[in-house]
Amino acid sequence: MESQRGSSSSTERAVDDCEDENSVTMLDVLQEENQLEEDANAVLGAADDKNCTYIQGYMRQALYACKTCCKEGIRAGICFACSLHCHEGHELIELYTKRQFKCDCGNSKFGEKCSLNPVKSESNPENKYNQNFDGVYCTCSRPYPDPEGLDNDEMLQCAICEDWYHTKHLGDSETRPEENSYDEIVCDACMKKASFLWSYASKFAVTKDSKKEETTQNDENVEVEDSSKKCTMPETPAKTEGCCFWVEGWRSALCTCEKCKMVYKENEVEFLLDPTDSVQAYEEAGKANNRESQYEKGMKALASLDHVQQVNVIEEYNNMKERLKEYLQKFADNKKVVRAEDIQEFFSEMEPNKRQKVEIPKYCR
Ligand SMILES: [Zn+2]
Ligand SMILES: [Zn+2]
Ligand SMILES: [Zn+2]
Ligand SMILES: [Zn+2]
Ligand SMILES: [Zn+2]
Ligand SMILES: [Zn+2]
Repeated sequence: MESQRGSSSSTERAVDDCEDENSVTMLDVLQEENQLEEDANAVLGAADDKNCTYIQGYMRQALYACKTCCKEGIRAGICFACSLHCHEGHELIELYTKRQFKCDCGNSKFGEKCSLNPVKSESNPENKYNQNFDGVYCTCSRPYPDPEGLDNDEMLQCAICEDWYHTKHLGDSETRPEENSYDEIVCDACMKKASFLWSYASKFAVTKDSKKEETTQNDENVEVEDSSKKCTMPETPAKTEGCCFWVEGWRSALCTCEKCKMVYKENEVEFLLDPTDSVQAYEEAGKANNRESQYEKGMKALASLDHVQQVNVIEEYNNMKERLKEYLQKFADNKKVVRAEDIQEFFSEMEPNKRQKVEIPKYCR
């Protein structure tokens, strides 16, 4: 499952004058590998694999539901560390990340105490549980991946309820804008509930016909700071049904006057004003917290080399990608959760191969 991160890896060619189609530069390899590594780490964010997150209170984090511990109808979410220590070998559903959540492991929903933090209250009243905790997603309420193989196209996460939706189940193809032309989506049900958002949609929604234009941070925001009493919510609502596709930066256009703040509170969407709330911000934090990546190590190694411009490693590289897939598949087959250490282990095992290849550089001319 992927969030709508847009096209991420920018593989810039470092050595322009190398035209050989069949070869990749060392830089390409490092950048792509860095992407793989980052993708694997991003979901975990700054996840700690030894300590239960419970004591940190309500927070955005990677969550898991345990089918072994929770019988049908009981919805509960456990943190990454608990998935490893308290639920090893259990049937776990990976829930990606949810905001404002406290680990449920060992509370009244479970038969046993949490082995990492046995002292917890009976329940976490602020936790929100949707159908994802039963292992199903979207308006079609299907598992992902779908064992019947019906709907395995990309899914997007609603910025408000955090359920996931098949692109094709977000409005009809007549009105749905092109993929990657929008930054976030808010589903049909959430737009109905927080209907005031339709006023913003008149200005900040992407529609099928809207040109892909850069939305510059509007001057209105500056005005707000000057006279915080003046409301900047657009007056005329756009259409008022279906889901909504938003342009980048739409959240910062939301009015922060006292009246509007009340509206956010009533609709339980105050988090929209928090710049660190988005999944993107969470993932960035996760990436930033990582120890020196293979990419950085590689860049240092590259800087220390003098004239090596190109290394013919495409075959080796494809093997590596295959192997990473196989490696991760084993975890999926055994219903085991992949830890940051496992990823690290995989990449460190790859190192000798790389070194070997660097020894036989191939020059352009
Ligand atoms: Zn926990
Ligand atoms: Zn369990
Ligand atoms: Zn636990
Ligand atoms: Zn669907
Ligand atoms: Zn929603
Ligand atoms: Zn306002």
